[in-house]
Amino acid sequence: MLLGVNVNTFKAFVVTQHNGAFSGALREVDRSELPAGDVLVRIAYSSLNYKDGLAVTGKPGVIRTYPMVPGVDFAGVVEESTALEFKPGDPVVVTGCGTSETFWGGYAQFARIKSEFLVPLPAGMALKQAMAVGTAGFTAMQSVMALEQHGLNPTGREVVVTGAAGGVGSVAVAILAHLGYKVAASTGRMELHEYLGDLGASAILDRATLAAPSKRSLDSERWAGGIDNVGGETLAGLLRSTATGGSIASCGLAGGATFTSTVFPFILRGVNLLGIDSLHLANARRREIWGRIARDLPMRLLDRMTRVEPVGKIRELGELILAGQIQGRTVIDVNA
Ligand code: NDP
Repeated sequence: MLLGVNVNTFKAFVVTQHNGAFSGALREVDRSELPAGDVLVRIAYSSLNYKDGLAVTGKPGVIRTYPMVPGVDFAGVVEESTALEFKPGDPVVVTGCGTSETFWGGYAQFARIKSEFLVPLPAGMALKQAMAVGTAGFTAMQSVMALEQHGLNPTGREVVVTGAAGGVGSVAVAILAHLGYKVAASTGRMELHEYLGDLGASAILDRATLAAPSKRSLDSERWAGGIDNVGGETLAGLLRSTATGGSIASCGLAGGATFTSTVFPFILRGVNLLGIDSLHLANARRREIWGRIARDLPMRLLDRMTRVEPVGKIRELGELILAGQIQGRTVIDVNA
């Protein structure tokens, strides 16, 4: 026995598909069922991302092989390792790296994984806080770093964050405000005005305004930059009102995958549209991003935007995130 967990069997949320019928349930898994990998991690926490909502409710586009344990993220302690860099007892973090797609993910008490996906838990951060960050927070920081690499600095105009009350959005607002940017938070939930203000937003916008279709190719210049979780007409609107030399980091599609734009923001204002992919990153880059998270995301703001839920509620939580009803970040306790 290990801290109340049997070495040979453990609890996991397992998803299967038979003749097109999807099912997902918590069940005992035999250790021999774990996929190959050079490190065995005893998981403390996982998290809830938009992509997890798709996976646990049987929507297409995430899981590529069955049976699958969803949960793109996990944080825990190394139990066994044949990798030189990791030894039993080391605290580690995994964020989306093919987990819940081709590799088993975090909605389980154990995961076996390739060491190339592991990042040591940053100093000063608890395992629970690392999962409060999770893929959403990691993507927010990756987006901020991409904007910085394209010249964004806090002395200029406002930076806009869309889908601001969600996971990526909340963390992005908190990081940008902490770094000294004037942050405009766009949300469909105006009742969360105070929450977004507490995270550091200096202006709150109704998301319908940004998504309103326009016959114009360019609107007045407003944004020095932006982090867009929404896509669709919202992204088209952001491009039209980004100031000369500004950049928009495109990381999500909560409002739609397609958009129409002219080339004028690009050829008349030199606007940059930056693609953000948090999956295909070298381990060294992952560590750099985690280093910036530890430095530039205030843990008191992270704690304020986070709630903890048991893994037994994962289906219900998955439905809620797809409906855009989750506020901030949700940590999943896999041992509850
Ligand atoms: P959340 O559900 O937590 O946040 C999404 C937010 O988008 C919602 O909270 C809501 O914010 C807004 N929203 C939801 N539905 C709509 C809609 N129909 N129209 C306009 N806005 C809407 O999800 P996450 O933060 O986990 O993910 C955000 C997006 O980023 C997703 O599309 C996800 O797939 C993507 N993503 C991409 C990654 C990458 O590597 N590129 C990594 C992680 C996430 P509000 O209520 O404030 O309006």
